[in-house]
Amino acid sequence: MVVSVDEKCLRLTDDRGERGVLLGMRCRQCGVYVFGPATFCQSCTSSDLEAVELAQQGTLFSFTIVRVPPPGWPGQVPYVLGEVELPEGPHVLAEVIDCDHGDLRVGMSVALALQPVEMEGVANSERVVYKWRSG
Ligand SMILES: [Zn+2]
Repeated sequence: MVVSVDEKCLRLTDDRGERGVLLGMRCRQCGVYVFGPATFCQSCTSSDLEAVELAQQGTLFSFTIVRVPPPGWPGQVPYVLGEVELPEGPHVLAEVIDCDHGDLRVGMSVALALQPVEMEGVANSERVVYKWRSG
C-alpha cells in the first residue's frame, strides 16, 4: 500500500507509487491555475474553481543548492531545490534529482519523478513524494 505525501497535491495513479499526477485548481472566471488546494482564486478572488490535473513536465525557473536541510530531511545533502514553472503557470517547489549540479540551467526541461521516502526509524512512514528530474 503506497500513500501520497499529500493527497491534495499528488494523486497516485498506480498501486506501486511510480505514476501520479499533480493536482491543482483552475479559476472558471479568469482561467488562472494554482498548484494544490485553493478555496478562492489568487488572481481575481472568485471562488468558482474546478479541480484539474497539471502537466507532468515543466521548465526550471530557479534553483538553489541546499547544504543545511530542514530537520528530518530523509535524502542526500547537499541537494537541489528547484522552482519549476508548469505550462499552465503555477510554480512547484521540489527537489531536482539525478542531475549534476553543474548541468543545471534555468529554462531546462524537467519531468515529474515520484519516489517513495521513509522517515528513518518510523514504522509505516513511507510516502511517495514528487520530485523533478532532467528530461
Ligand atoms: Zn480567477
